[in-house]
Amino acid sequence: MKVTVFGIGYVGLVQAAVLAEVGHDVVCVDVDQAKVDNLKKGIIPIYEPGLTPLVTSNHESGRLDFTTDAEYGVRHGDLIFIAVGTPPDEDGSADLKYVLAVAGTIGQYMTAPKVIINKSTVPVGTADKVTQKVNDTLVSLDKDTQFDVVSNPEFLKEGAAVNDCMRPDRIILGTASESAEKKLRELYAPFNRNHDKIIVMDVRSAELTKYAANCMLATKISFMNEMANLAERFGADIENVRRGIGSDPRIGYQFIYPGCGYGGSCFPKDVQALIRSANGVGYKAQILESVEAVNYRQKEKLFEYISRHFGGDVAGKTVALWGLSFKPNTDDMREASSRVLMEQLWAAGARVQAYDPEAMEETQRIFGDRDDLNLCGTKEAALKGADFLVICTEWQAFRAPDFEVIKNSLSLPLIFDGRNLFEPARMMEYGLHYYAIGRGLSV
Ligand code: NAD
Repeated sequence: MKVTVFGIGYVGLVQAAVLAEVGHDVVCVDVDQAKVDNLKKGIIPIYEPGLTPLVTSNHESGRLDFTTDAEYGVRHGDLIFIAVGTPPDEDGSADLKYVLAVAGTIGQYMTAPKVIINKSTVPVGTADKVTQKVNDTLVSLDKDTQFDVVSNPEFLKEGAAVNDCMRPDRIILGTASESAEKKLRELYAPFNRNHDKIIVMDVRSAELTKYAANCMLATKISFMNEMANLAERFGADIENVRRGIGSDPRIGYQFIYPGCGYGGSCFPKDVQALIRSANGVGYKAQILESVEAVNYRQKEKLFEYISRHFGGDVAGKTVALWGLSFKPNTDDMREASSRVLMEQLWAAGARVQAYDPEAMEETQRIFGDRDDLNLCGTKEAALKGADFLVICTEWQAFRAPDFEVIKNSLSLPLIFDGRNLFEPARMMEYGLHYYAIGRGLSV
């Protein structure tokens, strides 16, 4: 099938590559000329396991192309995906300017009926706005020419995006149009063979499903962090509590890890956006407001431990920091807990020596050259000459380090672990003073 994808970010690029891989003829449109030029040369703008060979092989085979020519893109696709960003507006609500800009472009260049599929995460009611915008800008077609606007939210996880798109848990289609549903069923048939994963519903429910999913996951994290903070005060160990409650199948083990807060491009912005949408319909989303507040507080947790340990004076200290990305297997630094920590350390007069397996370039891009940030080539190099170690991201490479090397490299035998990677009793045996989230030794 002929497909066009507007927006070559995490979602658009992975979706496009996966659709090309199963044989669809895909054109990607982006406004970023450098990104398009690089992709044509095989330079992939993001780190995502398995993505590079998928993009290059499909580009070489001619099934996946990249352009800034929106007119060509609109003409090409019978199915047109909108996968552009929906960043938070000043008040936290989702900014629809990119989505509506694409809708306007589609209207402007559309000369045949299309199915317009919204993959961006957007507030309930956006499909109506997209329909309106396309109608307002239609030049070459009658106003009543059928085009359908379908909501098809994306549930991929950064770090596992290719696999998630190849083997989705569910495919949500929000539409009342039988013909649009039929085309999308055909598009997704290669991903729907094992059992039927397609769930068809009305557009508004589909739009809300995406927010509800992310807000539920964020709620699980903030709930566990709340329990961790209580465990700390009660002298309990949150890791025991986690195993204890996870064994109940109604609760489950997934997504109940305590830590130094959630980040990324989705949870913070989607929780905020749903709070604002709720306000817009006269409803105070109390649970979501608490989820957000608990997360803000949790991102300051590591600095709180550090500051308390040093009696409020960390000026002049050199901190080894392992993990910069908001989670493992990505170079994405958006809303990462490491950023909050580094800002707090710098404000207190400390220096940071950081290492991350993938997010070094991104960190350099965000913070530039500064005297109080040294980006190191290895995790061992980050330890050299540092006073103590802090862990912000649970990369596999940090899970079984050489504790003798850690101890011998640091001036103090001291670890602050924001992801609970190690056993406190073991750390004690190594002679390391160990702070973790919600475990007895922290207080
Ligand atoms: P992104 O910021 O990585 O990429 C967006 C791309 O859209 C950029 O390359 C930008 O240049 C391009 N763009 C902007 N305006 C354009 C226009 N008029 N025409 C063509 N291209 C344009 O964004 P992302 O992370 O891929 O997210 C896209 C959407 O998907 C968001 O709504 C997000 O909430 C949602 N989402 C993201 C994830 C994720 O893990 N990143 C998961 C599920 C859903």
